[in-house]
Amino acid sequence: MISESIGVNALGNMTVGGADCVALAKQYATPLYVFDEALIRKNCREFKASIDEYYSGNGMVMYASKAFSCKEMYRIVGSEGLGCDVVSGGELYTALSVGFNPENIMFHGNNKTPEELEYALKSGVGRIIVDNSTELVNIEKIATELNLKANIMLRIKPGVDCHTHDYIRTGQIDSKFGFALENGEAMEIALKAAECKSINLLGFDCHIGSQIFETEPFCDAAVIMLSFMNDFRAKSGITVSELDLGGGFGVKYVETDGALPFKVFMEKVSKALKEASERLNFPIPKIYIEPGRSIVGEAGVTLYTVGAVKTIKDVRTYVAIDGGMADNPRYALYQAEYDIEIANKYTEPKSFIGTVAGKCCESGDLIQENAPMQPPQVGDIMAVLTTGAYNYSMASNYNRLCRPAAVMVNNGESRLIIKRETFEDLIKNDI
Ligand SMILES: *Cc1c(COP(=O)(O)O)cnc(C)c1O
Repeated sequence: MISESIGVNALGNMTVGGADCVALAKQYATPLYVFDEALIRKNCREFKASIDEYYSGNGMVMYASKAFSCKEMYRIVGSEGLGCDVVSGGELYTALSVGFNPENIMFHGNNKTPEELEYALKSGVGRIIVDNSTELVNIEKIATELNLKANIMLRIKPGVDCHTHDYIRTGQIDSKFGFALENGEAMEIALKAAECKSINLLGFDCHIGSQIFETEPFCDAAVIMLSFMNDFRAKSGITVSELDLGGGFGVKYVETDGALPFKVFMEKVSKALKEASERLNFPIPKIYIEPGRSIVGEAGVTLYTVGAVKTIKDVRTYVAIDGGMADNPRYALYQAEYDIEIANKYTEPKSFIGTVAGKCCESGDLIQENAPMQPPQVGDIMAVLTTGAYNYSMASNYNRLCRPAAVMVNNGESRLIIKRETFEDLIKNDI
């Protein structure tokens, strides 16, 4: 099973969180993002519990909100006791708009503007994760002007490689994010940060990539980071107490994805950290983890209506849907794999191979190529699974398509959480 949110009802229709996908499509129209609240909350709790169980509760789960950022999502993760990470003034604004505790917010990003930094400092965000030396200078200046002390961590590239798509690999030296260890850059900036009067250097952060299934790269990164904290202590006399291990835990897009229960990661990382801390005689740090995709990915499904089926003899069959790269650019970006279901034929065998095409004026506007599915007909409701993360948040208005609505389902009951855009919305900023 791809996701525990998915089921089937007496009519033979696919369900998400107990709600009939065909009925949802009828009630809210398509394309439609559907989210299962029960699974989102369960994932939040499992991440939290894993830190309690294996790391004596000495840590915090920060939802990486770029995966799916909207008011209701911040309300849900906040109510589960998670913090969140934001990467722009816009994400920060959305979180604060629902009363998210600013102390539990981390501000990431490789090019925060001075305006964003000032906004973050004035709002009292818990940690700013500094990515480059210009930013350090800017924070020192703004914090001095505001007469406050900025709590920061430094983003470090631990030099760990992981097996994932090039576009979502971030821990190696050739990455736009953070400071490299190998060439001394990280130590240099850490020593500089320690001398800033209006900056409080609390620790270090790393994030090695996304959609990772192996535990080793996380353990390696954790140990490398702790060694760096130890080296920094030796050079500066300062013992920092916090270590942010980032996110990147893989989820199931297709049956062959072998997603591990998160606690397996935590168990191994905790063990590695405890051993290293003993070996180096360095106090066990407070940790942060930043799951994004793994909180919300499998909890989301996108529903479309099939509008045309075009068979090109001896070539392939295109199945045209009423959405596409504008609501889900992940296939166009990095050939992401997906499981395709025809929701109103869910119990039928997948005897058909089709290429799912969106309605944008781009040949590359595809959701999946040559994918197995139940035989589609015009009017059928197509479901694309595991679209909770990096779908709505990456959506665009290309071709002036209206962004779809999103609904949250809980035990079969649905509620609108994001309204469908209208034509008026499309022109509201045009002059
Ligand atoms: C994207 C990102 C995450 C979350 O990654 P997922 O793969 O969605 O878990 C966490 N931390 C940082 C710094 C990120 O950039």
